[in-house]
Amino acid sequence: MSDVVNNAAINPALNSPARQFSLERTRNIGIAAHIDAGKTTLTERILFYTGLIHKIGDVDDGNTVTDWMEQERERGITITSAAVTCFWTQKPEESLYKAFETLPHRINIIDTPGHVDFTAEVERSMRVLDGAVAVFCGVAGVQPQSETVWRQATKYKVPRIAFVNKMDRTGANFLNALNDMRKKLNAYAWPIMLPIGAEDYYDGVIDLVNQKAIRWGTGEATNEGLKYDITEIPAELKDSADQARAELIEAVSNKDDRIAELVLDEKPISVIELKAAIRRLTCRIELIPVLCGSAMRKKGVQVLIDAIIDYLPSPIDIPCATGHVPGEEALIEVPPNDNSKFCSLAFKLWTDTFAGKLVFFRVYSGALKKGDNIYNPRTRRRERVSRLLVIQGSERKDVEAVYSGDIAALVGLRNITTGDTLCDESFDVMLEPPTFPEPVISMAIEPKTKADRDKMSEGLQRLAEEDPTFKMYTNEETGQLIIAGMGELHLEIIRDRLKREFKVEADAGAPQIAYRETITKAADGEGKFIRQSGGRGQYGHACVKVEPNEKGKGVEVLNKIVGGTIPREYIPAVENGILEAIRSGVYAGFQVIDIKVSIVDGSFHEVDSNELAFRMAGIFALKDAFKEAGPILLEPIMKVEVTTPDEYQGDILGDINRRRGVIQGVDAKLGQTAVAAHVPLAEMFGYATAIRSLSKGRASYSMEPLNFAQVPNSVLNTVLDAAKKKPAART
Ligand code: GDP
Repeated sequence: MSDVVNNAAINPALNSPARQFSLERTRNIGIAAHIDAGKTTLTERILFYTGLIHKIGDVDDGNTVTDWMEQERERGITITSAAVTCFWTQKPEESLYKAFETLPHRINIIDTPGHVDFTAEVERSMRVLDGAVAVFCGVAGVQPQSETVWRQATKYKVPRIAFVNKMDRTGANFLNALNDMRKKLNAYAWPIMLPIGAEDYYDGVIDLVNQKAIRWGTGEATNEGLKYDITEIPAELKDSADQARAELIEAVSNKDDRIAELVLDEKPISVIELKAAIRRLTCRIELIPVLCGSAMRKKGVQVLIDAIIDYLPSPIDIPCATGHVPGEEALIEVPPNDNSKFCSLAFKLWTDTFAGKLVFFRVYSGALKKGDNIYNPRTRRRERVSRLLVIQGSERKDVEAVYSGDIAALVGLRNITTGDTLCDESFDVMLEPPTFPEPVISMAIEPKTKADRDKMSEGLQRLAEEDPTFKMYTNEETGQLIIAGMGELHLEIIRDRLKREFKVEADAGAPQIAYRETITKAADGEGKFIRQSGGRGQYGHACVKVEPNEKGKGVEVLNKIVGGTIPREYIPAVENGILEAIRSGVYAGFQVIDIKVSIVDGSFHEVDSNELAFRMAGIFALKDAFKEAGPILLEPIMKVEVTTPDEYQGDILGDINRRRGVIQGVDAKLGQTAVAAHVPLAEMFGYATAIRSLSKGRASYSMEPLNFAQVPNSVLNTVLDAAKKKPAART
């Protein structure tokens, strides 16, 4: 391609001469939003305008490209993050970098789901994004879920631009949405565009940076999309445009020395300088440029793509990724540079009907060619890369090589799970994997026909590999298969996929809460497993000390044996016994969390000691100590957000109180009240139906796991009794 030559204009020290799109011209972005804000429609429009798809699909017709899975189409929500690649060439007069004039950029879009049950999907995609477009609904403004997604983007330090969508809808109000962003998200958000008209009369934007009006008109789009006219700002809007531009410049000058200097010296600020300053601030997450449009009416999409290029960072504009050598603490930089050693992160596993098992990965440094070997520091295994793919629209395209900053998929590799680092064997470094929350709900699952049992457990295992918040295991007491995840919908979708992809129909038990156990004080315990009944006996003996661990720290088992009171070769057996007891619980049969166990003493017998005896000693010692350590039961608490017309507010609040909920805030605006509360998950079953009948179907809610809290005494016995009756679905 001709632009290979033009790459010379770009930093040759970082870029391999073989690559088509330099690092500087690469954008890895996500489109993050509240469900229904229009993310799928917007992604679709971007793929359309970038020429990746030729027919505009509508979510409502169920034929969009990013919604790969059939049931997603049916549900109209995007569950999995598909990585899609597209290309965009800016018009030269609008390009920020003159060196890049008319050169195409490559944009990798990693679709992020908006539904709460899929926060793990959001987390894992945030980890590999360099920037994001946060989509808001022009009518609803900042909805509860947008706050969650926003917080995640902040956690992963993802620079953002905001797109206020649905400007064509009745009740759309750009300034309300903007104020919401400032108030609820505490965002330093500044419009770089103002809408021209709203609702049915929404027909364009005023570009405050270029000081032009962009109008799509009110006509219908053809298969070429909607063309726009660039005109002078209409006279009647000139004053408000001038004022908004002055405010934008002031906002930028507050944070950017170069612009502050120009303002102080009363010098003119050129378009390029203003753009460059907005870009600097956006990349440092100090400012959020705000745009608006209507994805459905195909308005504002081209300017949004321009803004993605102009303001969102390329892989070299953000702090470089870091990792550490396995077992060592010191951080090592993984620079975006094709000449460095290869290092990448596997962020998504996907079984594709055509191409088979795909591992989506993000390259942080170096390059990888077909036929190269990659090394997985977790498994210490090496594998040969036989095929590399990128997804372009609905097509899978084979590529020969991938470079720093790229997102692509590996085909046919095994033993890789989400979060694994894949690197050059001589660069033994592990990137920090994304973190995933604990499952809060579980259910027993059984194939409709006995013959399907193996097929079902194989399918579930595959799905668990793909999704780190989905767990499966066998209940040792009953032999039943248990699945655990982030919510009812999450597990329902797993069952759906089992049916579609693995052809296994399954019956599921009632959903159960994933209670946990922990302790409140330190205690000592002893375990002995001694059998001497003639012949060779059994002898295992271990003493442990248990202490509460910091919340969220999980389980730690430490070997503090001195003087060989338990021989070294039996320590793993004691540890395994302890972990086994922790998994199956002591107090009420639920998994134990946040505990520190030290193996402190024990004894052995020259002839009778063996692994089994020490494993049993470990189990008994842990149980003995646990009972003395003030054990308590924990339950998952959900963060619940309800939006209701004012008139139902009283009923909704009363109902939350009855569900042991604690109200965190009530915010009334324009006839709608938003209620925030923390409610035990145990009380949330059937809430969808309850809220519908309380509000005649007009209130909506969302919830996400918040933390685990002690089950109060008032309901403890009910929980314990229920647990005794239903051991099957304990986790
Ligand atoms: P997602 O859940 O965020 O992916 O949202 P979708 O793209 O599925 O859109 C949700 C609904 O909003 C669908 O019915 C869309 O047709 C509609 N929608 C999306 N964008 C717009 C828009 O710009 N204007 C209007 N009026 N409706 C829109």
